[in-house]
Amino acid sequence: MRIVFFGPPGSGKGTQAERMSKRYNLHHLSTGLLLREEINNNSELGKRIRKIVESGHLVDDEIVNEEVFSKVKGYDRFLLDGYPRNLIQAEGLDDYLEKEKKPLSGAIFITIPDAEVIERLSGRLTCSQCGFTGKQPLQNPGDECPRCGTILVERNDDRMEVIEQRLVHYYNFTKHLEKYYHDRLLNIDGMGTVDQVTLRLEEALSIWE
Ligand code: AMP
Repeated sequence: MRIVFFGPPGSGKGTQAERMSKRYNLHHLSTGLLLREEINNNSELGKRIRKIVESGHLVDDEIVNEEVFSKVKGYDRFLLDGYPRNLIQAEGLDDYLEKEKKPLSGAIFITIPDAEVIERLSGRLTCSQCGFTGKQPLQNPGDECPRCGTILVERNDDRMEVIEQRLVHYYNFTKHLEKYYHDRLLNIDGMGTVDQVTLRLEEALSIWE
């Protein structure tokens, strides 16, 4: 199984991608997590992309494509989370996978309404190490991640004005992937509890097991 997850920010892609990659034994690659690690490590790439990511814009397609291709090389089963984000990336991925003779099984489109995006992302706390997310006031900035012990922080791009910018990118670019993947697309309703969405996904993905 080789799949991509896309959807609006806050749709639960990261959480569900992690669960599905364990359930179906897939190599999990989150471009958001990968890029945030580069920023936190203050690497050359991190320095170049910090402002872009923190203002809610998309990182250059060439940079992201290269990162993804180098990290999926050698894997037969994988789940890409938050990638592709636009048509250029989707076409780049298909070209790359065609050369590798490992075509994509399909694309998972997780949807939630805009009001839910704002509700979920405002006050969200994230672990930069393992990707765990929590919500204030249950968890507070500076608390330890209940999974790995790293300090929880509010992502700079989870500020209201940046959330709005991320939604603009979603509607201008990412949503068009629905058409691009129309013949290999699974639509998943992202509303409800995390476990409910997990059940929907498990059932849907079983066709490619
Ligand atoms: P995410 O964790 O998926 O919400 O991504 C956080 C941020 O990382 C995005 O707002 C972008 O700035 C950047 N990013 C993640 N994935 C991509 C991608 N496929 N293409 C371009 N930028 C990305």
